[in-house]
Amino acid sequence: MTQKVILLGATGSIGLQTADVIREHRELFELTAFSAGRNMEETRKLIEEFKPQAVCVLGEQDAADLRSHYPDLDVLAGQTGLNEIAVYDADVLVSAVTGSIGLEPTLAAIRLGRKIALANKETLVTAGHLVMREARKYGAVILPVDSEHSALFQALNGEKREQATKLILTASGGSFRDRTRNELQGVTVKEALNHPNWSMGAKITIDSATMANKGLEVIEAHVLFDFPYDDIEVLLHRESIIHSMVEFRDTGVMAQLGTPDMRVPIQYALTFPDRLPRRNAARLDLAAIGKLNFQEMDYDRYRALQLAFDAGRAGGTMTTVYNAANEEAVAQFLNERIDFLQIEEIISRAMAAHTPAAAPGLEEILEVDANTRKSVRNMLK
Ligand code: NDP
Ligand code: MG
Repeated sequence: MTQKVILLGATGSIGLQTADVIREHRELFELTAFSAGRNMEETRKLIEEFKPQAVCVLGEQDAADLRSHYPDLDVLAGQTGLNEIAVYDADVLVSAVTGSIGLEPTLAAIRLGRKIALANKETLVTAGHLVMREARKYGAVILPVDSEHSALFQALNGEKREQATKLILTASGGSFRDRTRNELQGVTVKEALNHPNWSMGAKITIDSATMANKGLEVIEAHVLFDFPYDDIEVLLHRESIIHSMVEFRDTGVMAQLGTPDMRVPIQYALTFPDRLPRRNAARLDLAAIGKLNFQEMDYDRYRALQLAFDAGRAGGTMTTVYNAANEEAVAQFLNERIDFLQIEEIISRAMAAHTPAAAPGLEEILEVDANTRKSVRNMLK
């Protein structure tokens, strides 16, 4: 039987790789509906190829153009459209938009008890306890797409929670891993966008360079697997071959390895508990790689990572602030309005100004998110 898939963020890096997985297994998956932002060229290509029933785009004019071209297609627009398309008839929602805009549509699908393949980590960072509570309440299964969390999920599979003692997330170090802190002064957007191991969207590539990505992932791991922050460790591993590890109380460690190809964890989230063959995919050749390197994390060098642990330990709305300040700062850096090192400074200042509220509801989270973005913009005036 085919699984009906709704794909949010179809025109992005994860979105297009999800389309690859669906294309490879046409007999199993049907792309029923998808959302895009402003990339109309890819949107049209996806419509022609997959013939979905519904599409959502960001701009009203783009939506009107699509309606006149494809009269049989249900075309939605904007954030309301995103929330509506998420509850279209389907079996699984793949959430691959960037940023906390993914929260509301993901929650809407969770409340229908749908299976969620979650790439959009900002959703779990901004509102982790709420998302997990609703998932439990409505019986929605959340399967991680992020490679580290897919690895942890696989390593934990079949194990008793109390037997696992530590989550070890690996980090490649991002585009600037061979530079000292001083050498980060004045780096350009172009340099920051040049990731050594992975080809990804702009926002997450900058997050990898500041290590805020690993910070978001630490919080994501805490939320998904219910480990205290003291039992989550980050290890520098240049090659991105070990995607993450779990340590157990007998000192045994389970690691998940693979080539750096996001289609593997995307497919696994869609087919779990089954595994399907991947046609023409590169296999992991450890003999050719020869050697894997590991190094202790330097929290002075990567302050955005330390700030994520601080935000997580403070709890409540502090992780909402961490995420929103980072999203706003990265947008400003990409627009060349601030320096690279200002990103972590902005996160730090936003957190210092915030008193976290415990167990916030959706309204409060959206309000803190909006206020944080506003205060960051004010800081820069
Ligand atoms: P991209 O920037 O490549 O894609 C983002 C997608 O979201 C695009 O389809 C884009 O549309 C759409 N989008 C952006 N802004 C809006 C908006 N305001 N409203 C509606 N849609 C919007 O991101 P990635 O694919 O790299 O990342 C997506 C998510 O997955 C992020 O949360 C990231 O952290 C996570 N992730 C990504 C990995 C990767 O390898 N790329 C690995 C692990 C996690 P358009 O382009 O049409 O404007
Ligand atoms: Mg990751």
